[in-house]
Amino acid sequence: MKLLEDKVALITGASRGIGQAIALAFAKQGAKLVLSASSIDNLAQTATMIQGAGCPAPVLTQANVSVADEVAQVVKKALDTFGKADILVNNAGITRDNLLAIMPEKDWDEVLSINLKSAFLFTKACSRPMIKQRSGSIINMTSVIGLTGNAGQANYAASKAGLIGLTKSAAKELAKRNIRVNAVAPGFIKTRMTENLTAEQQSKIQEQVALGRLGVPEDIANAALFLASDGSSYITGQVLVVDGGLVI
Ligand code: NAP
Repeated sequence: MKLLEDKVALITGASRGIGQAIALAFAKQGAKLVLSASSIDNLAQTATMIQGAGCPAPVLTQANVSVADEVAQVVKKALDTFGKADILVNNAGITRDNLLAIMPEKDWDEVLSINLKSAFLFTKACSRPMIKQRSGSIINMTSVIGLTGNAGQANYAASKAGLIGLTKSAAKELAKRNIRVNAVAPGFIKTRMTENLTAEQQSKIQEQVALGRLGVPEDIANAALFLASDGSSYITGQVLVVDGGLVI
């Protein structure tokens, strides 16, 4: 029996990196997928990987995750196609790093909208069908930076800390309807988001990681799979740190 047999999963930011790895891991475990990115073309590679693994074609949707009407269309597409929504992964995210004193207001707003408001919009839209079906698992992609803060990332850290508050509040609110809400907090994972780090920065980070290596998207996908599956059915409101021991 596959871990997510017959479950319907919505995954945002599924075009590459961590979201792509989660989509592939969920597909291999039998989930029916509704994937989103800011353009459908960007999702082609993920769809090819999933079908190449012998899994059914995912439903591809376009949405700017910070725009309520576009989010509603993604959730509607899932319900129209599959009649339910069992799992939601709020993964889409961006960085706009700068020192606080010179950070443009628009960079603050954009990061907060795409990283945090998006999760509110998707959780709100998915909670209605999940409440009706009296089950669901919602996973928010936060970051160790949301726990520790980081110079040059005040906007990103605030958005990720905000996601933790949203996770805990939604967990308390939705638990009575058997909907679990958890967060995954990755450390440094090799994706496009971190590819601009210099070799020197990378080796400095690596020195601080107890397990001595940067993470790969599959490390995060495994954690998301656990939180999505019934194996975590007594876990809600938690932040699962997946950082190789960076923050201990
Ligand atoms: P990534 O490779 O840059 O991928 C980001 C994803 O978000 C892409 O699929 C992108 O889709 C989507 N996205 C960005 N803005 C969007 C928007 N306005 N509307 C819809 N989709 C949008 O990043 P990643 O490293 O995989 O990160 C995934 C998540 O993990 C993020 O929330 C990030 O903050 C978090 N995280 C990453 C790390 C790390 O070290 N990599 C560490 C901690 C937390 P498009 O194709 O549309 O651009």
